[in-house]
Amino acid sequence: MTTLRAITGTRDILPEEVSAWHRIEAVARTLFARYGYREIRTPVFEMTELFARGIGAETDIVAKEMYTFDDRDGASITLRPEATAGIVRSVIERNLMNTDPALKVYAVGPMFRRERPQKGRYRQFHQVDVEAFGLSHPSIDVEVIEMALAYLEACGLARFELVLNSVGDAKCRPAYVEALRTELRRSAPKLCADCQRRIETNPLRVLDCKVPEDQAIIEGLPRISDHLCTECRDHFAEVRRELEMLGIAYRLSHRLVRGLDYYTRTTFEVVSGELGSQNSVLGGGRYDGLVKDLGGPDLTGIGFALGMERLVMLLPGADEPRRCDVFVAALVPAALDRALLLQRDLRRAGFSVLMDSEGRSFKSQMKRADKLGARFVAMLGEDEMARGVWTLRDMRGSSQEQVRDEALAAHLRERLNG
Ligand code: ATP
Ligand code: MG
Repeated sequence: MTTLRAITGTRDILPEEVSAWHRIEAVARTLFARYGYREIRTPVFEMTELFARGIGAETDIVAKEMYTFDDRDGASITLRPEATAGIVRSVIERNLMNTDPALKVYAVGPMFRRERPQKGRYRQFHQVDVEAFGLSHPSIDVEVIEMALAYLEACGLARFELVLNSVGDAKCRPAYVEALRTELRRSAPKLCADCQRRIETNPLRVLDCKVPEDQAIIEGLPRISDHLCTECRDHFAEVRRELEMLGIAYRLSHRLVRGLDYYTRTTFEVVSGELGSQNSVLGGGRYDGLVKDLGGPDLTGIGFALGMERLVMLLPGADEPRRCDVFVAALVPAALDRALLLQRDLRRAGFSVLMDSEGRSFKSQMKRADKLGARFVAMLGEDEMARGVWTLRDMRGSSQEQVRDEALAAHLRERLNG
């Protein structure tokens, strides 16, 4: 028989590593709530058309990375490669703006992209995703960025860099893209095959190219900062002013265009040198045209998505061992029922309790308790049963005492808290 294996590019998050995940999820919930965000959970699959229209047919995600298949009735379905499109679909379909004109939501969950798997790059990975709708003032851009950084800090990430750019809007970007295309056509033969194709399909993506031979040419290309319209320029100036006012350091990069078509104005990314080539921890920006493009009202939007695998990789590993307050040891078969009752009652009282119900020897039960890191062992043998007590062993000091059945829970609480 062949061994069954996980699908290439997917990974199991094992019990030993899950505590870091719990931590970053808990931090998201408490921190985002302070900024007025509530959680939204949308399906992991949607109609393919949503992503094609939302993300853009010429982006790498849609052109190369989506898990798309025909459903049994012939409908084309895609596993979500990112969260924004599904959330926007929900906002429109469920009229979420009617109840809350300044809608702030976040989502946590798996995304799917068929990329070449490598360290920090998987085919199923997880994102924390944040979206704010209906707010257009630059101070909301700054708030979103500030919250992203506060989140990283609260998770325990010490070193990272914020990279910032403005990609203009529907008014000024087309002229820039044309200027870029004209310039690129001139140097086309010297560019990599991907970039040659992008000249016609999506010239902005050339700025994202990492092929070493292309870099000198790319550095000499026209810059978006010289093509922004007055509104975009003012917006960006105010974003920068407020970031500086709040003491938030950033590096400007005219090449930060992001991989999705829907971005307008502010784009940002947080990178960490410690991640190697997959150095982006989170990325986001404004997408003022997206809700309308997908058939909704003319509503602004801004958000970011953070890669949870990459964040976990960067955090100091502090895995909590399994907690075991009490190990219940039935030393004779007749003690089993009383042991089961005690186990249930102590669990109801809030203790973490384990026992051996396989009828093993005293010695092997003590070994097991030790291995589990049990703080106390409650033992019940013939003698204890006759007298209505438990022998309670403190595994730290190895001292023993006898405690009456009905006093055990209160006694344990006192000992564990004391
Ligand atoms: P990259 O340049 O690394 O491919 P991206 O621009 O495709 O990133 P986004 O689509 O903006 O990334 O997603 C936001 C974040 O999600 C990234 O910063 C990264 O941390 C994480 N991420 C993206 N793709 C993957 C993947 N295949 N595996 C693990 N994490 C990922
Ligand atoms: Mg990518």
